[in-house]
Amino acid sequence: MSSASNEPLLSARNVPEEPFTGTPPFESWGRYPRYNATIKPLHWQSDFPRVIDGVHTGVLAVGMGRSYGDVGLLKDGTLMPTTSMNRILSWDPETGLLIAESGMTLAQILDFAVPRGFFLPVTPGTKFVTLGGAIANDIHGKNHEAAGSFGGHVPMFELVRSDGTHMLCSPTENPDMFAATIGGMGLTGVITWAQLRLKPIVSRMIDYEGIQFHGIDEFLAIKKQYPHVEYTVAWLDCVGTGKNFARGVFMLGDHSKEPGELKPSGKPKLVFPMDAPGFLLNKLSISAFNTVFFHKQMKKHVITKQDYEPFFYPLDAVHKWNRMYGKRGLVQFQFAIPWEHAVEGTVAILKEITKSGLASFLAVLKTFGDVPSLGMMSFPLSGFMFALDFPIKPGITFPLMERLGDMTREFGGRLYPAKDACMTEAQFKAYYPNWERFARYKDPAITSSFWERVMGHTGGAR
Ligand SMILES: Cc1cc2nc3c(=O)[nH]c(=O)nc-3n(C[C@H](O)[C@H](O)[C@H](O)COP(=O)(O)OP(=O)(O)OC[C@H]3O[C@@H](n4cnc5c(N)ncnc54)[C@H](O)[C@@H]3O)c2cc1C
Repeated sequence: MSSASNEPLLSARNVPEEPFTGTPPFESWGRYPRYNATIKPLHWQSDFPRVIDGVHTGVLAVGMGRSYGDVGLLKDGTLMPTTSMNRILSWDPETGLLIAESGMTLAQILDFAVPRGFFLPVTPGTKFVTLGGAIANDIHGKNHEAAGSFGGHVPMFELVRSDGTHMLCSPTENPDMFAATIGGMGLTGVITWAQLRLKPIVSRMIDYEGIQFHGIDEFLAIKKQYPHVEYTVAWLDCVGTGKNFARGVFMLGDHSKEPGELKPSGKPKLVFPMDAPGFLLNKLSISAFNTVFFHKQMKKHVITKQDYEPFFYPLDAVHKWNRMYGKRGLVQFQFAIPWEHAVEGTVAILKEITKSGLASFLAVLKTFGDVPSLGMMSFPLSGFMFALDFPIKPGITFPLMERLGDMTREFGGRLYPAKDACMTEAQFKAYYPNWERFARYKDPAITSSFWERVMGHTGGAR
């Protein structure tokens, strides 16, 4: 190992728009709901539980605020941002094992790792999330079939409880607390540092293919033709009807094996300037956007090399793009439905969305594989994963979300807490039957607005 001490090898750089700064109320990525909270940042591993001495509200550690709903919010409670705890503690170039504090972002890890020929084992659609947030939601990427979810690449982490107990957690040490914390939504304690197994790459480039398709059957047929490609995802047009129903672009990629440049990424330059007015998002404008996106790829089949930034993080190119949904914000509907009902369920839900007339941009459709998640409450299950953003329209959006949530349950699926602001107590308990077992590992001082809502303690914010 090149370093095993507590001396930092790298500290904060390029942290974009820190969340949970300024005056309350605070919001996460969906900008809904917004809640007042007191902020007590954690700068050092030893700060917790000291910073909450004398605090009489519930508390919650938070990262970059990139969850969409209320899993990272606590109404009238105390939020503990972790982004100043962002030091690399150890790095082994032989094995790719990194040990870093939990507030380090995946962007900062990439800045460190890519020039050294390493990449994240699993990455979400934004790199502006923290290591702690990635573990707490057991996030997934475009390579779920090959790599499973994030927690599977975390051999060990430290968890600090509100009574001051420090626990090393791994599949063999405190294994139950390990399983409860991966995907445990921050409720079991504060993750102070974690090990992460990175994987070698020889270039920034991705060997990319994009293929247009019409309908879910064509999507599946393409999928079958490429069983060994690591990263797969599709953008789906949910506004199209008739022959355009469920049309989309299937995107595939592998890390290029041809040695190439391994420089760090530049900073994103574009910022969405202000909250968009409500009228901007209507069925006509969204339908036009989706058509342009579908035809942006002019040919039915494109093969090219692409830098990893636009491949993995196309939305990161424009900071604060969530302002596009205006001040009211957005909610995301994201399901996983098992193979048995995947096609039938997805088609029925798409038809319900089209029928509702609630305009929405392109949706994401991908498949989850059968690599088991290590978390007790992890979201992925083998089958289809579908995600779509909806603008918040009073009287329309929330009833639709409840209907779609019930349909998901009827098809044996579940919604993703990291993206949720709407699921009911009954839905949550049906989606996650392990919830009672999980609740035994919850830290008594820690809670979130999500947890209070799905336990039926509060009614949510509608
Ligand atoms: C554009 C975009 C694309 C996305 N794409 C994907 C995707 O492809 N796949 C996917 O799975 N997710 C995706 N997400 C969601 C995102 O990856 C998760 O919500 C992630 O957990 C956010 O991390 P964060 O650092 O912002 O944490 P926050 O949102 O601030 O917090 C998330 C949870 O982590 C807990 N937490 C944070 N730090 C700690 C800590 N140190 N100890 C204990 N608990 C902690 C919080 O309490 C909270 O419950 C996307 C989000 C955006 C905005």
